[in-house]
Amino acid sequence: MSIAENIAQVRAHMAEAAREAGRDPKEILLVGASKMNDAAACREAVAAGIDALGENRVQEMVQKLSEHAYDGAPLHFIGHLQRNKVNKVVGQAALIQSVGSVELLAEIEKAAAARGLTQDILLEVNVGREAAKSGFAPEDTFAAAEAALGKPHVRVRGLMTIPPADADRDTNMRYFEKVRTLYVDINAKLFHNGLEYLSMGMSGDYADAIRCGATMVRVGTAIFGARHYL
Ligand SMILES: *Cc1c(COP(=O)(O)O)cnc(C)c1O
Repeated sequence: MSIAENIAQVRAHMAEAAREAGRDPKEILLVGASKMNDAAACREAVAAGIDALGENRVQEMVQKLSEHAYDGAPLHFIGHLQRNKVNKVVGQAALIQSVGSVELLAEIEKAAAARGLTQDILLEVNVGREAAKSGFAPEDTFAAAEAALGKPHVRVRGLMTIPPADADRDTNMRYFEKVRTLYVDINAKLFHNGLEYLSMGMSGDYADAIRCGATMVRVGTAIFGARHYL
């Protein structure tokens, strides 16, 4: 199957899940998680109408930007972002989805102010409280959103989460529900319901994420095929 065929199939599954949940399929964005796939593969996804491409590693993103991999689609940063690499991402990524600490928030504010721009971000929620994963603990996310509101060059657009990989289906959906509840609360109390993006769901669980309210899914393997780690 080609990348275009895979995207069509993912879109069909997304639409089915949306309709089951009584939602409009058009309100859910498909982000291609393109890590370890080359510029040609990215361009194929763009030509097939992907809504955005998401990269995980700064070095790979910079290289592929120089190859015009993302021309024609917004670029998102979805991986762990080290503070010393913020300068390479701010202003390049239309959306930084993986903002999971107040220190990173402050660093993004500084870099965006220096460039005279406003950086769109999502706050990442470490919903499973995993020690090895970045992100705000669920109970700290409201305060993080409040802190972001005090930063004039950062604009929060929503929340992102990656539940623990070993969760069974019911537990996984409970994690999604939990982040959706947080999103609805923060959206109503702090953003006059102006947030748009609840980013959750990957190749194995995007339909469930949509059933639980996701407005953005990040899909890699189901679009680009298995990644080959060296
Ligand atoms: C790789 C990645 C995905 C996509 O994972 P697949 O299981 O290949 O769909 C989604 N989100 C993030 C943050 C990723 O790093």
